[in-house]
Order: sequence, then C-alpha cells, then structure tokens
Amino acid sequence: MLIKEDIQRPLIRFKHRALAELRSTLLGAEQRESFAVLIAKREIIGKTEVFTVHDTRLPTPHDYEERKRAYLRMRKSFIHQCLTEVVKRLDVDTLIEVHTHPFATDQVFFSNIDDQDERRYNKWLNSHFENLHYLSIVFSQKRYQARIWRHDGEMDLPVSATIKTQTVSERIPGSNEKPGLEASQEERLLNHVDSIFNRGSLALGLETMRGIMLDQTITLVGVGGIGSVVAEHLVQMGFQRLTLIDPDRLEVSNLNRFVGATFAQAQAGYHKVEAVAEHLRKLNPEVHVQVCADGVESEMAHEFLANSDWIIVSTDNHFSRWTTQQIALRYFIPMIAAGVNITVKDNQVEDMSGEVITARSGDSWCLNCLGRINLARIAAESHPDQAIRSQTLQRGYVTGMEMKEPAVKTLNTMIATMAVDRLVDQFLPNRPDIPILVYEHNQVSAIYEDRTSMEQRALSCSYCSI
Ligand SMILES: [Zn+2]
Ligand SMILES: [Zn+2]
Repeated sequence: MLIKEDIQRPLIRFKHRALAELRSTLLGAEQRESFAVLIAKREIIGKTEVFTVHDTRLPTPHDYEERKRAYLRMRKSFIHQCLTEVVKRLDVDTLIEVHTHPFATDQVFFSNIDDQDERRYNKWLNSHFENLHYLSIVFSQKRYQARIWRHDGEMDLPVSATIKTQTVSERIPGSNEKPGLEASQEERLLNHVDSIFNRGSLALGLETMRGIMLDQTITLVGVGGIGSVVAEHLVQMGFQRLTLIDPDRLEVSNLNRFVGATFAQAQAGYHKVEAVAEHLRKLNPEVHVQVCADGVESEMAHEFLANSDWIIVSTDNHFSRWTTQQIALRYFIPMIAAGVNITVKDNQVEDMSGEVITARSGDSWCLNCLGRINLARIAAESHPDQAIRSQTLQRGYVTGMEMKEPAVKTLNTMIATMAVDRLVDQFLPNRPDIPILVYEHNQVSAIYEDRTSMEQRALSCSYCSI
C-alpha cells in the first residue's frame, strides 16, 4: 500500500446515532479502559478517502485479558474473531480498533504503548492480508483522536483521520481541533451589530449559529424553482459552504419562480448554477460556492456529493433523485428531499401541495420504501438513447416526463422554507424527528406530518437497511 500524498485527510463516517451510542457504551459508568472493534468499508472518490462504519463489535467481560484504569489487553480470540469477519465478508474491508482513556477529559492522545502495539499489528496485518485497512480511534470524555495506519515498504506510519457525524449534537472535536470558530471570526460574524448574522444569532442562539457556520458543506441537487430559494435561504441563515449541482440552463419561463436570476441572464442562457452562485456571492462575499453544471451521475457531482455534510435534493427528475439517494446511502450522508405537485384539470387547480422528506443514514426510511421513486420513470429518464426515451414517452409508459409542469413561486418558496427549517432543526437541541412534512394549499392551507406514508412503508427496504 503506497502513501498517496494527494489524498485529503481521511474521513470516518458513522450512521446517525451510532457514534453517540458507541461513546456512551464505552465511556458510560466504566472507570476502566474499554475497547470495541468497528467494521468499515473504504471508499475512494477522487481525492477523498472515506471509511463508512457498518457494524460495531463489543467484547464481553471475558474478552478482556487485563483491564485497568489506564491499561487494557484484549484476548487474542476476540481480535481474531473480528478480523476473520472482516476478511470473510465481501461488503467490508476495514478494521477500526477503538479504546478509551476515560480519565482524560479534554485532550486525548495515543500513548507510546498504543503506538507500539498498533504499529506491530499493522505490520502483521500487511504481511498476511492484501487490501485490508487498519485504523484506530481513542476517546476521552469529550474528544477523540483517530488515525489510519499506512504500510509503505518497511515503514508503518499513522496518518490522522477526521470523524464526521450526521448531526451536530453527536459531534465531538478532535484533540488538535478548535471546538469552535476563532474568537475574532466569531466576534466579526455573530456578535457585531453590523454583521450579517447578528439578528439571526439573536433568534437561533450562538451555539446553533456556531454549528451552522463552522464546517458544514451543504450540496443542492437541482437549483431551480425550489433549489434557488433554498440556496438563498441557506446563505442568509449563515451556512458558509454550498455546492450547487444542476446541468440546466436558465430559460425565460423559469423567471416566475427563480430567485437571483435576471431576464438578461435567462436570455443569454446562463447555467442555473452560475446565476445562483453569482447571486449568493453578492449577498455574502465570503461564502464559498462550488458549482457543477453536470448531472448527478457525473464524476464531479459524485465527488461533491461524497464530500457533503447534508444534501438537499429538489429536482422533479426521478433518475437524479434516485442517483443522489444512492450516493447519500453509500457514503452515509443525510439527505432532505423537497418536491411540489400542482394538478390542473379543466382549468381548475385540483391539488397544490408539496412535501419535505428528511432521511439520515441509519434512519429506517428512504425515498424508495416511502414509494417516492418511480422505477419505470428512472429507466425512461436514464435511457442513453434519445429515440427510446421519446418512444417510451409517446407510448404512454411514463406520464408527465419532460412535460412542462405548472409551477408557481408561492408554493416553491413555502416548500423551500420548510426544507431549510428542517435542516436548521438538525442544529438545534431537542427538535423532534419529522420524516415527512407536508404543505397543502387546497380548500384550506395546512402543514402537517404525513404519518400514514411512514406506517405504510415497506419495512424490509434493501436500500436504507444496509
Ligand atoms: Zn491508549
Ligand atoms: Zn428505504
């Protein structure tokens, strides 16, 4: 295994709640060091190296050979059993050893004994197995240190890794990491009366604003009638890093609902992502906006998505929603899906509604088991042959595809607002989970939780139960 210098700092991603549960099990009431093995899968996406944690193996008291306040030794049988599982399973290739230093509160570092043991074990693993990856994590009460062991020729060297969680409430800082914004940055951004976010932080509180502003990258798939409003909301709520993915160009007929674009840009055929990015930078010159004017199936979009903290998908195209969700599920990235529906019959609006679905990796629901993905439509939308795409359409196998749907800004804005509120809720303490939130503007206007779809979903979903 060669050390690739061009690869970014490796990421370790947990499912929703998994890190909090692991820490409370290991650090709980225990006055001695504790141990666990995580079984993970390594993924390389461009310059990004991600380890997704699939399973946790906890030892029984009998599996500890020695266990003290500041020392532990595991029985070989337990380690061997975990190693055998990783080697036999086809869906995983990585062993992560976790132990605690329960008496360390803030800073935590691997000890010299940890270094020696792990270096020796990595050497042994490399001499016996190919393509097996070995990482280690140590927890104190409040922090962690994580690393991957690389074997290069005769050398076994540790490289620091970063843990990513799905919600801010589970997040703990690494031992060398500052837990918040720099004091001067915080003063400038939040506290100063002339700052953009002064009024927002009065509403949401400083702690929530820090969570939003610190290190979150939000990726939008679909920057249209809903996505452009979402983008503007995010920047004004304080998010500092956005990635916009949409292959479409602006049309004059978009301007009844698109935020931030001008008539001249639509006439000139600007890419939607470029028009929105320009608008966002005018609102806040310090915001980082990356754009991808290709579809979600492109390599560039794939890497952007894999590097996100949250994804908000708002396209009405089933293929791009499905592809986005596949990537989100594969790399354990939480996702919000926003969509609207307007049905017009005999010049009468029959239905005007929309919904926002929030699904984190580790939640037991997704667009597939909730019946929000039409597989026939995906096949039609993604067929490489244009002739077959139009035939499918003409024969009426798939209705509504490539038709110009009715659309109005008020409905889009409502749904975009709900989507961003659901995202901000993830940064607030003690907010309830609302998997599906519906807005309806028919006889009366109403916002409610759709519990029926949740109850009726397929419980053994092959997509989200991995
Ligand atoms: Zn240790
Ligand atoms: Zn599912």
